[in-house]
Amino acid sequence: MDATSGKQLSSDNIESRLRVVGLRVTGPRIRVFNLLKQIGGHHSADDLSLRLNAGKDGMSRASVFNVLNDLSSAGLIMLSDAGPGRAFYEASDTWHHHFVCRNCHEIFDVPCAIGRKPCLEADLPGPGFAVDEAQVIFRGLCPACNPEIAPGVVVA
Ligand SMILES: [Zn+2]
Ligand SMILES: [Zn+2]
Repeated sequence: MDATSGKQLSSDNIESRLRVVGLRVTGPRIRVFNLLKQIGGHHSADDLSLRLNAGKDGMSRASVFNVLNDLSSAGLIMLSDAGPGRAFYEASDTWHHHFVCRNCHEIFDVPCAIGRKPCLEADLPGPGFAVDEAQVIFRGLCPACNPEIAPGVVVA
């Protein structure tokens, strides 16, 4: 049996991108990246883990976490931390921020005016800090949940 004869998803792009950032091209990395690209939007590691295990060759939750970690440190996917238990990943190499609705928990992209990290100046207590990232989570009500925009809506 030739393991390389199996038809891969079109992965030329991701393969070269993995190499550019110095990551080895592995099946799991390609699978996770392609899944995120294909489904779009923002997903938790658990959600992605479930989807990856729905198929015939499952991946352990730990390897999904490891791959997500590798891909996000390499800047191929974006990790947003929206509070306790709400870390989500997406296939995006354009730095941006997020709006999270307090009511329906929907996540909206908020473009970054500068578009690269870190986009905010921090007033840090003294020298020696090296900031490399600043990500803003805006919170509030989305148009569908905002009673001023959508009268009659019941905010939980
Ligand atoms: Zn909402
Ligand atoms: Zn986003």
